[in-house]
Formats: sequence, structure tokens, C-alpha cells
Amino acid sequence: MITGFFRKLIQPRSGKPAGKPSAKPRSKQTLMVAEPTVIGAQDHRIDPSLVTNNALRVTQTLQDAGFKAFIVGGAVRDLLLGIKPKDFDIATNATPEQIKRLFRRAFIIGRRFQIVHVMFGQDVIEVTTFRGTSDDSAKKDEHGRVLRDNTFGEQHEDAARRDFTINAMYYDPATQTVLDYHGGIDDLRRKILRIIGVPELRYREDPIRMLRVVRFAAKLHFAIDPASQTPIPLMAPLIDNVPPARVFDEMLKLLLGGDSMACLLQLRNQGLHHGLLPLLDVVLEQPLGEKFVTLALAQTDLRVKIGKSVSPGFLFAALLWHEVLEKWAAYRESGEYPIPALHLAADDVLSAQTEKLALQRKITSDMRELWALQPRFERRNGKAPFKLLEHPRFRAAYDFMQLRCESGEIDSELADWWAAFLLADDATREVLLAKKPKSSDTAGAPKKRASRRGGRGRKKGEANGNNQGNGHSNEHNNGNVEHSSE
Ligand code: ATP
Ligand code: MG
Repeated sequence: MITGFFRKLIQPRSGKPAGKPSAKPRSKQTLMVAEPTVIGAQDHRIDPSLVTNNALRVTQTLQDAGFKAFIVGGAVRDLLLGIKPKDFDIATNATPEQIKRLFRRAFIIGRRFQIVHVMFGQDVIEVTTFRGTSDDSAKKDEHGRVLRDNTFGEQHEDAARRDFTINAMYYDPATQTVLDYHGGIDDLRRKILRIIGVPELRYREDPIRMLRVVRFAAKLHFAIDPASQTPIPLMAPLIDNVPPARVFDEMLKLLLGGDSMACLLQLRNQGLHHGLLPLLDVVLEQPLGEKFVTLALAQTDLRVKIGKSVSPGFLFAALLWHEVLEKWAAYRESGEYPIPALHLAADDVLSAQTEKLALQRKITSDMRELWALQPRFERRNGKAPFKLLEHPRFRAAYDFMQLRCESGEIDSELADWWAAFLLADDATREVLLAKKPKSSDTAGAPKKRASRRGGRGRKKGEANGNNQGNGHSNEHNNGNVEHSSE
């Protein structure tokens, strides 16, 4: 990830380092470092062409108006690594009102801390006023999590409030200098992720930082400084107190950033997955479940890396599929019809999961749909396959079914049949439709089916059984799936 060019630059060099060194020993390093190390262009070698015109316009406009303005955070880290930043954050000593007045399309947003979005078409540049020291007056919950803290401050205070040393550097495109308050450049060279200040306190203030450690360690292939790492397993339960929507946002970044497998492994290593995807604990312990999840994540990472879109619904559906399978089996054991049983299993899994993670309604409905479409792949006669082909979510459901085959959950004969059916002309399709499927069992459902309960004590949304006698999955017409009239 680090370019050869940058590696050369950050090799320890003889002679004096550029600017004033932040000389404090790491163990004693306090939150406040008033004087930064100043690194010039010849030393940091940032390629100015990686900075977008919009980011330049914002810093320049602010500076022309007499304010300080720097590119900050992840963008500086990425620029130093020779990576094109995916977005630019700007830090300034101008207040939100002052910033807003300088730009035609600028909006003040946020309550916990006000920020300004400066818009250029679709491009959003986030501009924040330097934050002041988080002092005792900041409103906190009973666990020490900072709830609201809108104090503005000096640049060095702003640096101290950032999470990691490598995220606390400021780049001024006009002078092409980097200001480093907390030894970020050294840590970048050593590939170390180090939280600024006392890790326990910083995690308590904002437990999401523990997830950020995981994400950056996995994304950048950096080691976690032992002092930053040690408290994590102990403090992991604090994540329970963070509003679920915020946890969800961070989980999305974690899973859709192109390094989902590495992130998930890190989550497990740090004991963080218990609190986040509770059902995944169980899934990852079953060989089939683990294989399925691994394949799904690898596929997601590949799509992200080649710039294809990824759907959070697909990913979460995959992560929780084996949990659904288990519950589905249990409901069928207890005498439920397959389709209602699948819906009940989905309800259980989603309600257990959404307590921790605020899965948005759109995502849960995508997940349900993907799961509910799975049994329909088993129906390979009459009009059923053609109807399935027309379903708007066919492609995603088909990919999902392929993953199930690849992971060994169901016979790959099913995927082969569908692959052939997709490519076939009308005559060949007739032949395929006439072919007797190898397996006569319901996809993914338990092999053994208990006898139905007497009196059909069914639950909501269940219809009468109207078996069509197609030799397999003939109970799929029961229940509340949309193809029940087929
Ligand atoms: P990415 O490449 O994922 O965008 P990033 O470091 O830019 O990485 P952002 O979430 O965009 O991450 O945050 C921008 C900057 O704001 C960070 O680099 C860091 O300095 C600061 N920051 C973000 N979240 C926190 C936090 N929870 N605590 C302290 N500082 C934070
Ligand atoms: Mg960012």
C-alpha cells in the first residue's frame, strides 16, 4: 500500500528532521502538543495533483478571507501514502457561520458537533471548525460517553481530539506543508495505529473508536499499538451504549470498504463481534456457515475493488443466512409449513439482530426478499422458473443461491441447472424443465420434516396448503410469499 516513493521518504534519515520535532516520549505523550512538526514538500512528497480542485477552492477561499484552512484527517493520511483520498475534510478556525457565508452552497449540519457541508454539484467537502479541548463540562452519559460538545478551540486542541496519530495531520495545499502534532508521520512509517492520549479514556468518550481501530488496521495493514489494543476486549461492551444508528454507519464502513474479511477477522480477534453481529458468533463457528460468510465477503471485497456497487442488504442477508437456516429448520421441526417457517425464522433473526444494529427498513426488506426467493430456485417446472426470472431481485437472489452452492450448503446441480437455463434457447429450456431434479428436498431446509401440527395452528399471513405436486418443494405455495398464487 505504501508506495516505494513514500517508503523512501519515510525511511529514518540521518540529520535533523524537518521542522520542530514533537519530542515527547510516547508513553508520556499528553493530549496537548502545542507545537507541531512542520514537514515541507521535499520531505513529505505529497503529489499535489491528488488534491481535488474543490478541496483547493475551499482552503483557498477560507485563506483568502483571512482564516486558517487545512486538509485534515484521512485525506492527509492517504495523500502521504500516495493514495487518492476518497473525500476531503477541511479544518479551519472560521466558525460555521463564517464558513457558510463564504460559499454559495453551504449547509450547517449536525448537533453533536456542527459541521458545514460545502457542495459542488455532487461533491461534498466537509468543513469543521477546530474543536476545543473536551473538558469536564462536556455533556456525558453515565459511562463517560461524550454526548454533546460544541466548544471551538485552537488547532493543537483540535489535533488532540482526533482519534489516531496518523489521522491528526494537517496539510496546507498553498504552502504544501504538513503539520504533525502527535508523531503521525513516524507511526505511518512504522505502520502503527496509535490512539492519541490515554486509550481507555478515549474509548470511553467514544466507543466507536474501537471499531475504527479495527477498520484502519485491516484497511491499511497496520499493527495496533499494544497500549491502544489492550483495553479493547475489556471495553468492547461500551459499544452497547452507542446509538445503534451510529454503530450501523460504522459497520457499513467496515463491511463495504473493500476489506470486509480482514475487518471481520479483526473484530473477532479483538472480541468486538459479540456486541455487533451477535448472531455471527454462532455462524462463524459452523464450518458451512463460515465458508458461506467467507465467500460472501470475498465477493463483496472484489466488487468494491473493481468499482462495482454492493448492496448492504445482500451482505447482511449473507452474514445471517445460516442463522436463518437453523431457525427455519427448527420451525419446520415443530410442524410449520416451509414457507411460513422461513418467514418466522427471518423475523426472529432480524429482531434479534436489530436490537444491536439499527438495520434500516430498506435493508431488512431486501434481506427478507433475498431469503424468501431462495426456495423458488427449487421449483424447476412449469412457469415457475420464468416467473422467477422476471422478479426484479432475481439477479441478487441468483448470486445468493450460487454462493450457497459454492459453500457446499446445497448441491451445485441447482446452480448448474440455472446457469444452463439462463443461457438456453426455448427448445433447450423445455428439455431442462422436463429434467427431474437430482434432489427432491426443499433448498436449504432440513431434510427431516416433522408431521404437521394437528388443527394447523398457523401463524399470521399463512394461507391454505395447495400442493401442486411437482415432486419437490411442493409446499412452497403456502404462506405469504408473493408467488403464492403460482
Ligand atoms: P476514511 O478514509 O474512512 O474516510 P477518515 O480518517 O477520513 O477515514 P472520517 O470518518 O472521514 O475518517 O473522519 C475524518 C477525521 O475525523 C479522522 O481522520 C479523524 O481525524 C477524525 N475523527 C473521525 N471520527 C473520529 C472519532 N470517533 N474520534 C475522534 N476523531 C475522529
Ligand atoms: Mg474521511
